[in-house]
Amino acid sequence: MKKVLSIFLGLILMFVLTACSGGEEDSSGGSGEAGFVGIAMPTKSSERWVLDGDNMVKEFEALGYKTDLQYAEDVVENQIAQIENMITKGVDVLVVASIDGEALTDVLDKANNQEIKVIAYDRLIKNTDHVTYYATFDNFQVGVLQGSYIEEKLGLKDGKGPFNIELFAGSPDDNNAYFFFDGAMSILQPYIDSGKLVIKSGQTSFDQAATLRWDGAAAQARMDNLLSASYTSDNVDAVLSPYDGISIGIISSLKGVGYGSADKPLPIITGQDAELASIKSIIAGEQTQTVFKDTRELAKKAVEMADAVLKDEEAEVNDEKTYDNGVKVVPSYLLEPVSVDIENYKEVIVDGGYWTEDDLK
Ligand code: BGC
Repeated sequence: MKKVLSIFLGLILMFVLTACSGGEEDSSGGSGEAGFVGIAMPTKSSERWVLDGDNMVKEFEALGYKTDLQYAEDVVENQIAQIENMITKGVDVLVVASIDGEALTDVLDKANNQEIKVIAYDRLIKNTDHVTYYATFDNFQVGVLQGSYIEEKLGLKDGKGPFNIELFAGSPDDNNAYFFFDGAMSILQPYIDSGKLVIKSGQTSFDQAATLRWDGAAAQARMDNLLSASYTSDNVDAVLSPYDGISIGIISSLKGVGYGSADKPLPIITGQDAELASIKSIIAGEQTQTVFKDTRELAKKAVEMADAVLKDEEAEVNDEKTYDNGVKVVPSYLLEPVSVDIENYKEVIVDGGYWTEDDLK
């Protein structure tokens, strides 16, 4: 009897845990007169996606849509299950920021069977015909801004150098990561070729620099290894980092071996997303730069696209050549990223209303 009871209690516990991990805390709301939108986001562990989700819900609900917003905590299978669930619940359109851009082919076939259209959000969805529009930023330009920042701060154009640099890239299952890296290398490669930039670790390729799932802890561990293997007698002068969460990991690693003092200053460290911790870090003189991408604008674009699709109208696009997903070139709208550092963060981030002075305290 006792055994039966404990199995029964165990089953109840399992049920409760599964229900919680299935995203019960995520939001579902709106009147629904205009339609029902499923919004699949990658993770809450990075602020930007939380803002993206919240902004979209706000915009959709203002237009009379009901929304189902789900986060998959960077687990690909969770995201697929969440999208399947949205299809079952009868959404009219899906907005998806993928975790693995190549993992959604089958589930989007299912969406297509129910005549549900799909908008790719920020990250391209690959290997499928069933994506109508793509709302994103000029991702190559993000990398150009990071590379140019390093070029300018080191005075490379004026012939200064040689300097030591190490390279970090984003997640290899995210199409954006290649665009960021290629954009940055379009600026940095000539200096590497001429010897003005030296990568002492020898880790020069995207694959060597990549950081699975954009994980800051993994980047920190890699930086620890680079420092102990190649920088016992020399200092590193710059680190190309594609994302603020990675930058914060790199900074911890550097501080751990004594960088951040007058005789051993931190290197120039780029980033992306204007996350709160990174803007604070810039103010504190640690991280050097970030690339701001206004998630409010991106949310607006995606909502316009979904709304147009549901009304059988054409959405505004400004790029119909760059984003080939392996099956088709996805008509895209690219927003402009902005480089932010200590000089302009007040004007861009605070005056622009993205973070308040209070947030930054
Ligand atoms: C986004 C970046 C973000 C990164 C990690 C990329 O796809 O474009 O803004 O920093 O993912 O979340």
